[in-house]
Amino acid sequence: MNASAVTDLVVVGGGTLGGWASYFAKTGGAERVVVLERGLLGQGASSRAAGIVRSQGGTPATVALGQWSIDFYNRQQELLGTDSGFSELGYLLLAITPEDEAEGRRRVEMQRSCGLDVEWLLAETATEVCSTLAPREHRGGSYVVTDGAINPPRNVLAYAIAMSRSGVEVLERTAFTGLRTAASSDGSVRVTGVETSAGLIETERVIITGGPSLQAVGRLAGARIPVGGARHQVAVTEPHVAFQTGRQPMVFDLGAGLYWRLEEDGLLFGMSNPDESPGQATEIDWPYLEKMQRRLARLVPATNGLKLRKVWAATIDYTPDHLPILGPVLTAAGTPIEGTTVACAGGHGMMWGPAVARAAADLALEGKTDLIDVTELGLDRFDERGRSKLATDPIALPFPVST
Ligand SMILES: Cc1cc2nc3c(=O)[nH]c(=O)nc-3n(C[C@H](O)[C@H](O)[C@H](O)COP(=O)(O)OP(=O)(O)OC[C@H]3O[C@@H](n4cnc5c(N)ncnc54)[C@H](O)[C@@H]3O)c2cc1C
Repeated sequence: MNASAVTDLVVVGGGTLGGWASYFAKTGGAERVVVLERGLLGQGASSRAAGIVRSQGGTPATVALGQWSIDFYNRQQELLGTDSGFSELGYLLLAITPEDEAEGRRRVEMQRSCGLDVEWLLAETATEVCSTLAPREHRGGSYVVTDGAINPPRNVLAYAIAMSRSGVEVLERTAFTGLRTAASSDGSVRVTGVETSAGLIETERVIITGGPSLQAVGRLAGARIPVGGARHQVAVTEPHVAFQTGRQPMVFDLGAGLYWRLEEDGLLFGMSNPDESPGQATEIDWPYLEKMQRRLARLVPATNGLKLRKVWAATIDYTPDHLPILGPVLTAAGTPIEGTTVACAGGHGMMWGPAVARAAADLALEGKTDLIDVTELGLDRFDERGRSKLATDPIALPFPVST
């Protein structure tokens, strides 16, 4: 790679957002697309995720992002000759309290008005649909039969193949270190280049991702991006006959931030601790994991006494309102830096990642996207303390309050 050559688009970060965005941009007409990855492709949150993909968003925009991404996952073989391993399992978002039920039923109304084929299952029906669920521990929930899960490492492989086949240039072990900009006499500011650990790349377009490191990437670009990182844990039980089935719905115990799905004849379950402080995940929080294991055993009695064969803790990204970020980098004075697009899926990179990446590529190349209305999703929705003017997406893990 000749680092001094002019490039159509530079993408910072080789996670699922940067990976798919680079592919969409290259196949959407950009001539030369370079991805900067400080480590190896997929080394961030994207290879460590649980793979849950739902269209049951808490706002019309997030419903659309989930639907678009599922449609993309379903079309990958036809488009790319490879795929992210999406399998349709169905997803039940449980109600435990009467308040959960009232809120869930309102949510279903909103989702149906967005064209989503979602229904409310009474407790008895929910237990029939998901036969491993304890019958008396819940009040039913919302259900979408076409939600499912991808295989996150396979997704990294899929976007790496797509990038390579489409001619995206990947610079691994090459860090983004800063933005070069130029101001015009009319007060506008435009990106002119990207500084990297391997030298300067001249470009007029940059997509900035970073997952849980996006705040630090923003600082390198001279911008405040209020994205946090926090520990998130996933465990997989040993196999059990109750889970030796090709299909069983995934379930989200929303209030507890606990979800589960089939995995290699056992059950994979993931959790976020509402009392977790922001920061890098460096170890497993066993007491919290065991607490969630006990809750899981109440809701799915077949897991009672099962041993774990895999447990991991990794850093998940989150935004203050749990919504994605799509918009330009802002200078300290709040002026958009033309040619830049920040893209973040706010901890939902498996379910919204392809759609957010596609919208970011559209914004970078065309300055607009028809995938969703992004007018409110930029960095200008946050005040100087990172508080958003938008209502929080109600369907999210319990992330820390500050970033
Ligand atoms: C344990 C866990 C479970 C999860 N489960 C789910 C799930 O079930 N469903 C779901 O939708 N989401 C899930 N997520 C969230 C999802 O994984 C993330 O939202 C998604 O991976 C973010 O993708 P990304 O590309 O923005 O970030 P990342 O995958 O983190 O990629 C960012 C990349 O930027 C690189 N980078 C950082 N700084 C620089 C720099 N200065 N220069 C160059 N490169 C840089 C990093 O090395 C990294 O590779 C989970 C996350 C975790 C941790």
